[in-house]
Amino acid sequence: MTDNKEQHPAARLAYRRDNAWDRMGSGERSAAQAFCEKYKRFLGSAKTEREAVAAAQVHLVEAGFRPLPDTAMLRPGDKVYTVNRRKALIASVIGKNPAASGFNIIGAHIDSPRLDLKPQPLYEEDGLALLKTHYYGGIKKYQWLSVPLAMHGVVIKGDGTAVSVVIGEKPGEPVFTVADLLPHLAKDQMDKKMADAVPGESLNVLMGGIPVGAVDLKDRFKLAVLERLNKLYGIVEEDLISAEIELVPAWRPADVGLDSSFVGGYGQDDRVCVYTALRAVAEMGVPERTALVVLADKEEIGSAGNTGMESSFFVNATAEIVSRCLPGYNELALRRVLSHSRALSADVNAALDPNYGEVFEKANAARLGGGVVLTKYTGSRGKYATSDAHAEVMADIRRLFNSAGVVWQTGELGKVDQGGGGTIAHIMASHDMDVLDCGVALQGMHSTFEIASKADVYMAYKGYKAFLTS
Ligand code: MN
Ligand code: MN
Repeated sequence: MTDNKEQHPAARLAYRRDNAWDRMGSGERSAAQAFCEKYKRFLGSAKTEREAVAAAQVHLVEAGFRPLPDTAMLRPGDKVYTVNRRKALIASVIGKNPAASGFNIIGAHIDSPRLDLKPQPLYEEDGLALLKTHYYGGIKKYQWLSVPLAMHGVVIKGDGTAVSVVIGEKPGEPVFTVADLLPHLAKDQMDKKMADAVPGESLNVLMGGIPVGAVDLKDRFKLAVLERLNKLYGIVEEDLISAEIELVPAWRPADVGLDSSFVGGYGQDDRVCVYTALRAVAEMGVPERTALVVLADKEEIGSAGNTGMESSFFVNATAEIVSRCLPGYNELALRRVLSHSRALSADVNAALDPNYGEVFEKANAARLGGGVVLTKYTGSRGKYATSDAHAEVMADIRRLFNSAGVVWQTGELGKVDQGGGGTIAHIMASHDMDVLDCGVALQGMHSTFEIASKADVYMAYKGYKAFLTS
């Protein structure tokens, strides 16, 4: 920092936003680039909640984590994980302090907006085989038109065996798409409100076009698809009823910008926080306080369901850990651990986009490259339904990050009354622990190609590491 002699002494009193790159030396800049190479590989290989859990599990096992159910007592330095229905995961490193002093917890979510196949998806119309979808999470539907989609998921067959399906990721493999209407014939559509221009029931995926059998065979385009599916996976149409197939963008994560300063890719909300938190917990030594990382499902649809943050899975898994640390375990001990814990709700926030500057309040909006974002509150229409972090909690994290050299900024989700959103922070806070939203700012959030700054990704990793070891 050079001293500007012209400056008034009072200028020192003002808060100044830093750009993270300015604060990073060449060593840290190249560390961020290297970190993001691995992050892109994770992002490209974990496009669904199941794939993210599988990838996280591999990462944790390589780092020496053992399945929690296989352990008896836990001692400082022990590393364990537990998986809930292949869709949620909790990892923990046991600390030196007594469990009753509380845990350091990071919660992120592994689900992302997408198109899900309906239970009875396959039909034919006008000589085409198509698949019906029901979108998952908050999407702008037009973004999902005329882009290459890959099919990811699992089919549980009538005999209970599971078949995993991934089509459209390997070079040369077919992809899928929902065709958009040509502009030449879109007069009526273009006159509609954007929210109504693409009806949910029109998000039908092109699946096939070569018929089987004689011309008078009924449903011969649909039957042709069934024949192929049977050949590829040994499944029949009824098996699709017990399937979870997701259509996600087929493209890979990529560097964005001439200087490769950004990562572009699908699913960065919230897998950018998933990966950074995972790396942070996997690289820990023996912490003072027990560290816990929660990867929750269903955040994008309200955190309900037994794999979502509202599920007892979180408390149950915490109880399993506490009971292995405390000989005289009882419910009160568990409640004390929860209420003495502190948590970061690791989720993304909106980055200021100069193309749409009017929806942001610039003094309080996060910037790409501004560092990891501390979000005091989310919510909408007067902070409704948010966990508004206490000033004391903001102060603790600010002090921690400042002392650890973590570049951070504050963020707010757009102008007052412009819209809003939520995270799992309020659910974590309901266990009486202190919680702060802390994650990476994105442009194009919930789109098929979200943008993050590599400096921010790296600062999230650095921040989570500092938090877990504090
Ligand atoms: Mn999110
Ligand atoms: Mn989201």
